[in-house]
Amino acid sequence: MNRLLAVAATFGILSLALVTAQQPSTPGQVVRRPAEGREPELQQPRIREYHPRSTLVVPEHKVPKAKFPVIDFHHHPPRSMSVEDVNRVGDEMAPLNLGLMINANATPSSGLKPALDAIAASRYKGRMVMFVGLDLRNVGPGSGQKIAAQLEADVKAGALGVGELMKSFGLTIKKADGSRLKIDDPELDPVWQTAARLKIPIFMHTADPSEFFQPLDYRNERWLELALYPDRRYQDRSRFPSFEELMAERDRLIARHPNVTWVLAHMGWHANDLARLGRMFDRHPNLYGELGAVLYDFGRQPRTAHDFFVKYQDRILFGKDSFQPDEYPYYWRVFETNDEYFDYYRDYHAFWKLYGIGLPDAVLKKVYYANALRITPNLPRAGFPAN
Ligand SMILES: [Zn+2]
Repeated sequence: MNRLLAVAATFGILSLALVTAQQPSTPGQVVRRPAEGREPELQQPRIREYHPRSTLVVPEHKVPKAKFPVIDFHHHPPRSMSVEDVNRVGDEMAPLNLGLMINANATPSSGLKPALDAIAASRYKGRMVMFVGLDLRNVGPGSGQKIAAQLEADVKAGALGVGELMKSFGLTIKKADGSRLKIDDPELDPVWQTAARLKIPIFMHTADPSEFFQPLDYRNERWLELALYPDRRYQDRSRFPSFEELMAERDRLIARHPNVTWVLAHMGWHANDLARLGRMFDRHPNLYGELGAVLYDFGRQPRTAHDFFVKYQDRILFGKDSFQPDEYPYYWRVFETNDEYFDYYRDYHAFWKLYGIGLPDAVLKKVYYANALRITPNLPRAGFPAN
């Protein structure tokens, strides 16, 4: 009996110790928070199953069609680019008010003429234009001159810009000697100089969201995306450079070529830190940002994003990236309304709702088409207002 009591006493002391340890530690808090330490009694939903309906009642303004015609600077049509492909894309454009698509598929030089022919033979001639890719594999001494010469030929053949330079540039592409091709490798300088001389923009995607380089734990904002896509995990430093290493290479390249028109895909992955992007815009008047696939970042900081778009209205270009016609209206709604707390279209990008940033018409026009027309010589201008 004594022994039992002793055991009970021990447990009593232990549970007392446990309770003491759970006493509120926040200054000023005198009792534990409601539900602190509780666990759900019901079976918990899996991460993709919990979609609570919002009971918030506020004005809604759906925007199926952009207020002004739009140039999509970051368009990825089907790779085959048959006449049918162009027609299928073209059929989707008018209802959304898309006036012009820039094919940023990094089309190889050999694919340029067939693609231009397909556009010319389609019902949407003048509604799609071609950028061209660069073959950056196995760069070694003399490669820069060769790639530059090819670029010049491609521009003569009808390419209006370079792009998209994919994230593999910097992340994975190797030089002939087996080392990683750094973004600011001086061997490529002749290429960038050629682009500057030809006054064509270079549309460049560098790295990926910074969270893709961070530990894959439950604090990672992109956990679900990383769980879905093994090839977006760049945590292994023996295989991949860090996010900041890639940014540093990119920034050195931009600084070294002030005469190139640089367009950073996805706002350079700084839409979650617009002050950083603003400092880059301030430093480099030749730098632009394309806003595809980072809508979730503007939509969660409507006041900051609004002020940023107004301040840098000459430096931001519309682009969508993945061509899903039903996703464009989310962009129109964020840019054109002040709606609150509405759904985003992709759960693995963001677990939060969006807010409109209500841009003035003058800013919308620049972002939607005028900036693209200004920085990309020879874009077809038909259908875009003169001011
Ligand atoms: Zn892209």
